[in-house]
Amino acid sequence: MNASGTLPADTHIHTALCRHAKGLPIDYARAAFAKGLPEICITDHAPAPGGFDAGSRMGAEFFPVYIESVAEAARAYPGRVKLGIEADYHAGCEAYLPRFLDSAPFDLVLGSIHFIGDWGFDNPATIERWSGADLRQVWSEYFDLICRMAKTGQFDAVSHFDLPKKFGHRLPEPDLRELLAPVLEVIAAAGMALELNTGGRRKPVGEIYPSLFVLKLVREHGIPILFGSDAHVPAETGDSFADAVSLAREAGFDSYVRFEQRKNRPFPL
Ligand code: ZN
Ligand code: FE
Ligand code: FE
Ligand code: ZN
Repeated sequence: MNASGTLPADTHIHTALCRHAKGLPIDYARAAFAKGLPEICITDHAPAPGGFDAGSRMGAEFFPVYIESVAEAARAYPGRVKLGIEADYHAGCEAYLPRFLDSAPFDLVLGSIHFIGDWGFDNPATIERWSGADLRQVWSEYFDLICRMAKTGQFDAVSHFDLPKKFGHRLPEPDLRELLAPVLEVIAAAGMALELNTGGRRKPVGEIYPSLFVLKLVREHGIPILFGSDAHVPAETGDSFADAVSLAREAGFDSYVRFEQRKNRPFPL
């Protein structure tokens, strides 16, 4: 809870269309608003041509269904349900992403990195590739991709920023600080926001993305934050948000942002 007793908006939510989540936008809206959340933004995994990570996202033919299902929830709760998308940055996405992002009136485009080359490093199915990996090398390649993503200018916010820690492969703080300095410069220069994603709480690492250590550096760079549960079932909306707000305040934040038509506006924390 914040000073005014309200929770922040939940701006990272999936739906059944991605085939690994349950429920429609209206179900997430109902659950979120019953918990007292002021606003939600639905951000399902974007369709991607060419078969990129096809198992984890809606097919392009379902995109109109997605738009309509979010619109239905927005009609039921006027002004409180926004249309977003979680888009992956990956090799080749520049060829189609601008046109795709122009094809719908998105309020928010989350930018995510789930692959380093052909390795879905956050996928439990390929966790064994971590055992032979050079930790600093993996984190460094991951942050290089974040920089490339930010420089495209196509994304509004960085999702689950320290995702490589998902299974507990944390980078020691001195290394992290060293790698992060240039990355945070690039994110700040791109005018992007960065997400406090409580989904990490439900993963082996058991910790919000990003850590307090990282979040303090984010704050020092003047990068605004937003809050996302990364809900894949309606009950997960707003998950651990009181703790996320405490974390943000501890890092020195007194506001967060919500997005409308891809512009952000600050709200008090
Ligand atoms: Zn998902
Ligand atoms: Fe993601
Ligand atoms: Fe997500
Ligand atoms: Zn995600």
